[in-house]
Amino acid sequence: MTDGSWYDADIDRVIITEAQIREKIAELAKQVSADYTTVEDGLLLVCVLKGAVMFMADFARALGRHGPAADLEFMAVSSYGQGTTSSGTVRILKDLDRDVAGRHVVVVEDIVDSGLTLSWLLRYLASRKAASVEVVTLLRKPEAVKVSIPVKYVGFDIPNEFVVGYGLDFAERYRELPFVGVLKPDVYARA
Ligand code: 5GP
Repeated sequence: MTDGSWYDADIDRVIITEAQIREKIAELAKQVSADYTTVEDGLLLVCVLKGAVMFMADFARALGRHGPAADLEFMAVSSYGQGTTSSGTVRILKDLDRDVAGRHVVVVEDIVDSGLTLSWLLRYLASRKAASVEVVTLLRKPEAVKVSIPVKYVGFDIPNEFVVGYGLDFAERYRELPFVGVLKPDVYARA
């Protein structure tokens, strides 16, 4: 072992640190909490797996300090496969376990890139008759947007670069990194 971290060979640079993520999530949770003080039957948080898993876990806990009560639901959809460009085709890998009809839903997203996945998901939730749907996303790439979507709660706007860490993968790797970073170009060459 060297003094460096195991990922030093692969990560070019960190763009959002663990501390910045923590601070931002506390802010987002406070905003959401303040906006839903009058929701009687609580919120339904819908996490889009796998990328949003870290964000869901931390955001739900931060929200839990303030309320309202929230049910946690998980969906898995696929739009990227193993590559780094959006296919625009969304497949449901795991559907919601409970009915969203009449519920106030907050979709918990890792990243809004082209917006294609999210726009599909919002149509899907509307077709299942949710009472309201808002989106909280940790990351957004404004330059990559192809479909304009009203995202009420945004953690960080980032440049149009492929990022990994904090749930986000490249070919299923790097999800466990506690920060968001950019890979060295030779990692793609090696893949
Ligand atoms: P969109 O449909 O907005 O283009 O993005 C769909 C999904 O692609 C996101 O939820 C995320 O899982 C993945 N994605 C988009 N941009 C990135 C990125 O920079 N890095 C990683 N690892 N995944 C991304």
